[in-house]
Formats: sequence, C-alpha cells, structure tokens
Amino acid sequence: MSGSLIVVGLGPGTAQWITPAAQAALDAATDIVGYGPYVDRVPERVGLTKHASDNRVEVERAAHALQLAADGRRVVVVSGGDPGVFAMAAAVFEALEAGPREWLNIPITVEPGITAMLAAAARAGAPLGGDFCAISLSDNLKPWEIVTTRLRAVLAADLVICLYNPISKARPWQLGKALELAAEQRSSETPVLFARAVGRPDESLRILTLAEAVTAASTADMATLVMIGASSTRLIAREGRPPYVYTPRSVAKMPCATSQGRT
Ligand code: SAH
Repeated sequence: MSGSLIVVGLGPGTAQWITPAAQAALDAATDIVGYGPYVDRVPERVGLTKHASDNRVEVERAAHALQLAADGRRVVVVSGGDPGVFAMAAAVFEALEAGPREWLNIPITVEPGITAMLAAAARAGAPLGGDFCAISLSDNLKPWEIVTTRLRAVLAADLVICLYNPISKARPWQLGKALELAAEQRSSETPVLFARAVGRPDESLRILTLAEAVTAASTADMATLVMIGASSTRLIAREGRPPYVYTPRSVAKMPCATSQGRT
C-alpha cells in the first residue's frame, strides 16, 4: 500500500462544521496523529490507530506522521479550526523541509477547515466585512517585540484585528498590553469581541467596548478569539437581545489618528 498524508481541520468544535472532504479523509485513515484533545474528537473504529501527543511538540509530531506515511499508512494529521492557521499544516512542511529526501515522494494534501475567527465573526454578525488581519499573540515562536511592531502597523492601517492565542497561564499579560496599544490609537468605544469556545457546548460571546476590554483582558483564556473592530465597525442594537456587530464593506477615508485617540 502506498502511504499518504492529509492535514485536516476539524473546525472550531461542533461536528457540523467539519467539511465533507475532511470527514472523508478521517473515514479513510489508518492513523490519526495530533494534539490529544483533537485526536479525542475522532471516534474510535476498527482499523484506526490514534497517536495523541502533547501540546508544543508540533514538528516532532509532524515528522512522526510523515514517517508513518512513508511506511505506507494512510495518515491524517488533525488540527482544530483550519490546519493552515497557526496550526499543523505549517509544522508538516517544516518537518518535510528538514527531513529525508524520500519524504518528498509522499502525497501530502491539506483540507481546509473553518477557522476560529470566521466562526466567531458569523456568531456576531459580519465584523469581517471590510479588511482585516489575524495575529497570534503567542510569543513562544516569535519575540514579543515583533508582535507589538505588527500590532502598531495594523492599528495604523485601521484593519479589524483578530487575536489568536490571546492569553495563557505562561503568558498572562500580553492580551492586556495588546488592548492597551489598541486603545492608544482607536476610540474607547470601538467594539471588541471576546468569542469563547465557539461551536462547543460552553460557547460564549461577549461584546465589549475597547475601554471595557482593556479592563477585562484577564477574563479571556486560550479558548477565546479576541476581535478588535476597525474605526467603521459598529453595532446594531436590538430590544432584549445582543446587538449585531458589523463592518461595512465600503470605507470612505482613513480615520484621523488624533481624533481617534482615547483623549
Ligand atoms: N487552527 C486554529 C487556531 C489554532 S491557534 C483555527 O484555525 O482556529 C489556537 C487559538 O485559536 C486559541 O487560543 C483561540 O484564540 C482560537 N480558537 C480555536 N478554537 C476556538 C473556538 N472554538 N472558539 C474561539 N477561539 C478559538
């Protein structure tokens, strides 16, 4: 049997957000490789071997998956959300680049998934209707200085900013710092979303002002996607229900930096 490797996104949580193509790959796999909680989401069946590993060993995990595929197995590497967004697809190509040349003969496919920011945006309304960007706040793989340089640049460009990996026990202050930077350049009334565990039973969506978000930073966790609105992002209020959050598709002009500040 000739082996193969498919990197699959399981979506943010609910099985309804797994694509049919990802499901077909899971159904045909002989081996599932991934971080424990994602591997747990794939049901056991006869003929399927599951290889769960710890967090933070992505490249070793990817190399293991490539070796299984080289040995003739039909391997599926699983990620949450989309596998190409701060996830396993890049780790597979890092391992491939550093690995033996024979691995280049392995057919590798990446199956897209619904990434957290798209699920969070859909729940809130349409906050990604204009230009936007995604930044991981984790400084495990890059210096914090790079994060702040990029944040300042996208704040100046008036993009909606999606923050992945906003906070963890090992990184307790970075989200607060990022929101403070945002508050220096954007109005204190700018809508900010804290979308937690979207698509899972414990899902919650909080719509805050930027000023409130700065104070509430420590209430976010690793299951939270934080979205900071652009100057045109706004709310449509509803009687007795949470407002819709949306960003119009058209932008007339850049906001004036001095009139957008906190003071
Ligand atoms: N590949 C994943 C992202 C991995 S980084 C994707 O495409 O979604 C992990 C970060 O993603 C978390 O810290 C959180 O910021 C975000 N995230 C993942 N699943 C989420 C969910 N169900 N709800 C909200 N945020 C989520």
